[in-house]
Amino acid sequence: MTIASVNPTTGETSKTFEPLNKQQLERKLELAACTFKTYRRTSFAERQRMMLRAAEILDSDQDRFARLMTNEMGKPIKAARQEAEKCAWVCRYYAEAAEGQLADTVVKTNASKSFVRFQPLGPVLAVMPWNFPFWQVFRFAAPALMAGNVGLLKHASNVPQCALAIEEIFRKAGFPEGTFQTLLVGSDAVSQILEDERVVAATLTGSEPAGRSVASIAGKHIKKTVLELGGSDPFVVMKSANLNEAISTGVTARTINNGQSCIAAKRFIVEDEVYDQFITGFVAAMKALRVGDPLDGETDIGPLATPKILEDLDEQVAKSVKAGAQVLTGGQRVKRPGNFYEPTVLANIPTDAPAYRDELFGPVAMLFRVKDIQEAIALANATDFGLAASVWTNDPEETSRFIDELESGLVFVNGMVASDPRLPFGGVKNSGYGRELAEFGIREFVNIKTIWIK
Ligand code: NAP
Repeated sequence: MTIASVNPTTGETSKTFEPLNKQQLERKLELAACTFKTYRRTSFAERQRMMLRAAEILDSDQDRFARLMTNEMGKPIKAARQEAEKCAWVCRYYAEAAEGQLADTVVKTNASKSFVRFQPLGPVLAVMPWNFPFWQVFRFAAPALMAGNVGLLKHASNVPQCALAIEEIFRKAGFPEGTFQTLLVGSDAVSQILEDERVVAATLTGSEPAGRSVASIAGKHIKKTVLELGGSDPFVVMKSANLNEAISTGVTARTINNGQSCIAAKRFIVEDEVYDQFITGFVAAMKALRVGDPLDGETDIGPLATPKILEDLDEQVAKSVKAGAQVLTGGQRVKRPGNFYEPTVLANIPTDAPAYRDELFGPVAMLFRVKDIQEAIALANATDFGLAASVWTNDPEETSRFIDELESGLVFVNGMVASDPRLPFGGVKNSGYGRELAEFGIREFVNIKTIWIK
């Protein structure tokens, strides 16, 4: 894959980059290893000062970063601004919280003193996707750097300028050279980097095949990994729900980031009694969305990030329709330059259709009718993924059943699934393992050292 910025709205290539050669890569790995030796000894106060400065840079240059995201991967500009803002939030959150989260924890035993100490591991490789090109990186980097690790970013090949901008933010914030480096390399270089003994662990956010590959290489070399993979999140609406709120939130939850989010609501599972009413409102709201130039502040849905994503989505929908799925709105590419796809709703989806079992990465919603909560839970769990779920009900018994029985890393009740620095984030089943954010995220890449003194 070439490393290039190709504007998904126009198809124009604005910049291409040569991947790092062997010597350049070697220098960066060596710098990471050397920097770790000194950086690990910096105090929380020093790290905090630099991390707060990174947050200030994100705020003060928000417009430039937002335009960079929109021009490289097509997200609406208002969402890009919010993303930069959220990155500043996670920097501030860990700047304040890290010292407490990693403080020695005393445990009473038969020793005169026993406690747990959390120490950094070393250079951690982060393989990241393009869909939230800033957020995915910051939610790894803020805790990793506050814990005293150093970061090596292998970003998706279609967002190289975002990757370089992030490196620049950390440098300008005062982090020593080598604390956070962007490696402009293709995915074919990941195994070599991961096998290098100076790299001690890896985190990957992306697709299931990429996760399998990275985890197997890391496993062979006994290196810790965190995997944040795909999702086919259910959005369950029961008859006791506030229907209007469920409809408007459901449309946002499906189409956020032009439909390219791991935690987007993908399968709408609606109780029989309110199904028809839900469909009517939902389809009307999907039709009303404004598709267009993502740089226009009024646009709801911009282009998909690459022509390949557009082709894949188009094929998944076409195959599902061929298998018998019904198109309630959309179902076509938009006839204009760029990677645009119509907001689409599919219903009556047969079990052998791609829309039934696969993750659809674009503005395509799948509707399913169920007769009761038992059927709703069974269908919600009938996927290899287990990232998140949103359930809509005003019945306390139903709420507790959903909480207990849904097979997912997150359950949101009467709200849209969203990440929050204060709450752990991650999945079960093929959605991956490990957690990001909160105190769980910062403890993924540390040596949890037990100390026992007689
Ligand atoms: P992807 O193809 O897996 O790419 C993600 C990253 O992995 C890129 O940096 C890519 O590099 C690299 N990569 C791809 N194949 C690899 C391999 N075999 N070995 C090592 N690295 C490899 O994912 P995507 O299609 O761009 O992103 C969408 C997927 O990410 C969806 O499934 C989505 O649900 C998931 N996602 C999950 C989360 C979460 O938190 N759970 C968040 C966002 C997205 P190149 O670009 O150079 O190929």
